[in-house]
Amino acid sequence: MTLSPDLVEALERFVALDRVLVATDFDGVLAPLVLDPMDSRPVEGGMPALTSLAALPGTTVALVSGRALGPLGELTGAQDPIVLIGSHGAEDSRAEGGLALDDAQRGLLDTLDTELAALRREHPGMRVEVKPAGRVAHTRGLPQEEADAALAAALELGRRHTSLEVTPGKDVVELAVAHVGKGVALVALAREVGAEAVFYAGDDLTDEHGFAALADDEDTARAERRLTVRVGDGDTLARYRVADEDAMVELLQALLNARRTRAPH
Ligand SMILES: [Mg+2]
Repeated sequence: MTLSPDLVEALERFVALDRVLVATDFDGVLAPLVLDPMDSRPVEGGMPALTSLAALPGTTVALVSGRALGPLGELTGAQDPIVLIGSHGAEDSRAEGGLALDDAQRGLLDTLDTELAALRREHPGMRVEVKPAGRVAHTRGLPQEEADAALAAALELGRRHTSLEVTPGKDVVELAVAHVGKGVALVALAREVGAEAVFYAGDDLTDEHGFAALADDEDTARAERRLTVRVGDGDTLARYRVADEDAMVELLQALLNARRTRAPH
């Protein structure tokens, strides 16, 4: 057991509640970060633990990712009743027909494509990921100087179009025409399912928005009971920390076992 004693104690308090939301980011939490985002594969044991948790009474499970819903579903193999929230909260697997963009947003997306194509001619190593409501510039694997220049150019593009939502991450900049944010999405889901507490694990800047929003939840009792976990190092607003994806699997399995034992049948 590598989980810290205070984290184990927090788990025990969490599983004793009647209704909980167990939510987690995917990349860097349940799957190692890789060069090509579509090469990503979940670590062994993580998805089965989430699937078993989702089958327990009073337990809603959600994957909350920056990825678009399609690839998120394919890569995780997650099935109903696991809730998939994609594009940082702009997409929800329970919504019909995906995402509705207005004419202005559609026009902005076209402009973004044109300008990113020009950027790629200047920075040929930069990769562009297409999402329903935006584009993501990736520079992982580039020599540092090229990566810095490409990221700076993508950020500058974002600054020029003030209606774009610009989200920097590790070796990525996301430029979105519609944006909800992981924090808003998490709190909305918690309210919707009537969760008394939310577990949320993440590894990146966008997850910090999730940790902050859960701490600021207007349901102050739920905010007080939040069990937030940062995976890996870096400054964080999360209450607890685990080292890596394998420790995360161990944490989910401990959560599953504890929840199973208390769950009424
Ligand atoms: Mg991540």
